[in-house]
Amino acid sequence: MHPDIRRIVIIGAGQASAWAAHTLRQQGYMGRLSVISAEAQVFYERPPLSKQVLAGTMAPAALQLFSEEAIAELAIDWHKPVLATAIDPQQRQVHLANGVCLAYDKLLIATGSRARVPVSDWLGLAQVVTLRTLDDAARLRERLLPGQRLAILGGGWIGLEVAATARSLGVAVSLFEQGNRLCARSVRPELSAFLLQLHQEQGVDVQLACGAIDLVATDSGVVQLWRADQCIGEVDTVVVGAGAEIACELGRDAGLAVNHGLLVDEFGRTSHPDIYAAGDVAVHPELGVCVQSWANAQHQAISAAKSMLGEPCEYRDPLWIWSDQYQCNIQMLGTPANQASRLVERIVSEQQRAFIYLDEENRLTSMVTINDAKLMKLGKRWLKSGTVLPAAQLADPAANMMALKP
Ligand SMILES: Cc1cc2nc3c(=O)[nH]c(=O)nc-3n(C[C@H](O)[C@H](O)[C@H](O)COP(=O)(O)OP(=O)(O)OC[C@H]3O[C@@H](n4cnc5c(N)ncnc54)[C@H](O)[C@@H]3O)c2cc1C
Repeated sequence: MHPDIRRIVIIGAGQASAWAAHTLRQQGYMGRLSVISAEAQVFYERPPLSKQVLAGTMAPAALQLFSEEAIAELAIDWHKPVLATAIDPQQRQVHLANGVCLAYDKLLIATGSRARVPVSDWLGLAQVVTLRTLDDAARLRERLLPGQRLAILGGGWIGLEVAATARSLGVAVSLFEQGNRLCARSVRPELSAFLLQLHQEQGVDVQLACGAIDLVATDSGVVQLWRADQCIGEVDTVVVGAGAEIACELGRDAGLAVNHGLLVDEFGRTSHPDIYAAGDVAVHPELGVCVQSWANAQHQAISAAKSMLGEPCEYRDPLWIWSDQYQCNIQMLGTPANQASRLVERIVSEQQRAFIYLDEENRLTSMVTINDAKLMKLGKRWLKSGTVLPAAQLADPAANMMALKP
């Protein structure tokens, strides 16, 4: 480990920050470790917020990434809840909203992303909720009572997961998506079609190509949904699931290279040698996009933490993300295949199937499994090894996939 590294600062205290802090100590870093967090609650995972926590089947305490004792052992110099407001790369300092200024030898930016709200006035409406934090989940949970009416603006992952949980709680759900299919930015049409059918079967009123929607709060406490000059419905609560804004402004204002998110190399290093970034805020070094996923935040942060200590550790993981909706566990591996790749559909049953995409040499390019975690595990190995796969066998629901182990 480099002897000159005695002060490390991490901005943010989510998934990426937690794993970076843990890794730094695990690798033997004994110097000062300061973590700045805008949230009072730190080091917790977000995926259950739209699933079990919202459904009331998981206590918020269960989201903690590490036990209280393990966190105490990390000997963190906490600054929370407070915002980091500026980075001075020349002086190697981070400025905080409370006037504190922290010097660093190495800095990790792990500021993640936040919910995008297309119309800022909506944030002033008591009935409008976004879902990013534990507080957001608690607020939304209180409103999801049986018989209530919920509108979801946005047919992406968060919107769909909220729809599924709300239906399980007996809430009437309408979902409005401006595009002409669900999750259009991240999946191929066949998965969009599967999701549409799944939600419609569960009673969600899905409106695709819905056009611009506006919200108007009434004196009676409900919100009206307006399209053009027409009121198209009234609901008790609106969830805005209109994508995320990458929280990269600190890095951008400090002069770091930015393209949608902070540009980093395979070691998590930004365009400044002392500043690293990981998680939602960083552009994936190979995929060229900010991968907003639990696994990416964890693994990119581990690699960045090791690299910060002078032990270069490459991060090139393919995209892997999951979602739970109703009885379906959906997992996706690899970036949505390009149009040229060939689709092999494996249908074991109505609720267990896979979309497998192959290149012209029959090598896996990407894959989606529904209720088939075993096949996904195998898919990760196929992708890594470049195994040539027999398409006919993949499509045959009776064929034993384990026989195709690389
Ligand atoms: C409701 C929900 C469900 C999800 N479900 C899944 C799922 O099923 N599968 C999956 O793979 N992924 C899922 N994700 C995505 C996954 O949780 C994120 O990709 C992951 O949390 C990113 O971690 P991060 O540490 O990069 O950022 P975050 O977890 O966003 O943490 C960043 C932290 O930095 C703080 N911060 C920002 N700016 C500042 C500042 N200037 N000063 C101080 N602090 C600051 C923020 O307040 C935040 O606490 C879900 C996300 C949400 C919100």
